[in-house]
Amino acid sequence: MNLDRFERHPLMFGPSPIHPLKRLSEYLGGPQIWAKRDDCNSGLAYGGNKIRKLEYLVPDALAQGCDTLVSIGGVQSNHTRQVAAVAAHLGLNAYLVQEHWVDWPDAVYDRVGNIQLSRILGAHVELSPAKFSIGIRESWQHALEAVRRRGGKPYAIPAGASDHPLGGLGFANFAREVNRQEQELEVFFDHVVVCSVTGSTQAGMIVGFAAQDRSRTVIGIDASAKPEETRAQVLKIARATADTVGLDREITGDDVILEDAYAGERYGVPTPETLEAIQLAARLEGMITDPVYEGKSMAGLIDLVRQRAIPDTARVLYVHLGGAPALSAYGALFT
Ligand SMILES: *Cc1c(COP(=O)(O)O)cnc(C)c1O
Repeated sequence: MNLDRFERHPLMFGPSPIHPLKRLSEYLGGPQIWAKRDDCNSGLAYGGNKIRKLEYLVPDALAQGCDTLVSIGGVQSNHTRQVAAVAAHLGLNAYLVQEHWVDWPDAVYDRVGNIQLSRILGAHVELSPAKFSIGIRESWQHALEAVRRRGGKPYAIPAGASDHPLGGLGFANFAREVNRQEQELEVFFDHVVVCSVTGSTQAGMIVGFAAQDRSRTVIGIDASAKPEETRAQVLKIARATADTVGLDREITGDDVILEDAYAGERYGVPTPETLEAIQLAARLEGMITDPVYEGKSMAGLIDLVRQRAIPDTARVLYVHLGGAPALSAYGALFT
């Protein structure tokens, strides 16, 4: 794998921390569980996994002379908030299309959390009635045209920075980072658990870990509630990324493990198990997860351990991708 061929614009503090989740591991009575904290990887508006991906998109945007980052997501998108923060940090404009991905009754849903942060960060925030989709959208094309009409030069970043030629590189690099940290910590994580929706986080990891000598299992936990679309996108991006970085083997469907039992009926709507997982991680570890993404992947981790689907002898790395800024939009859940 040759990642160093691609320029990376550092946006993180450095490697994100890895630490054991001792009380959660003891409580579940199974394998040793550790966390890698991409939820606190950067000082840019609370950070998160999109910052890591954007490290590889930013040099491309700057090389093209673009002055506006254009992107798309739901109203409480973590991704668009991270794009807004990166734009501010670089002195660029951000144009964000926030679609109606989630029907959630909290009165302040479109005023607090991520969307509030994007507005504070100075992004142009446009609300759109379009429903949940991880694909390329018409409203997004309109946004690109709007920027051009005003004489700006847009740089198009798809939902989750995923369906982009460079979208998988950030998490291919993540795999190298984990490998270095394992050597320092003298552990090896044979199971990696990660939330998956637009796909390039899991896809990048699959490629990055596949380039290493020792094999391990990457378990994606679907939070899209459209697991076939997410699985197809993970495979597509993993294959494209493998090709881009010159991985020495093919990525096949067998490389993509996506657990589909934890998303509930809809994206953005938590299940009772999501809530239990959020409370458990908070009360045992002081670690905050959210109702859209990490609460669902935490619920998946807990259930897979309880079912003994992950053996007791394993060392598990739970990758925390961020998302806590959405919590205030879900205030009603915790009253
Ligand atoms: C975007 C996001 C994910 C999903 O990552 P994808 O690359 O879209 O699959 C998971 N957790 C959080 C907090 C996110 O913001």
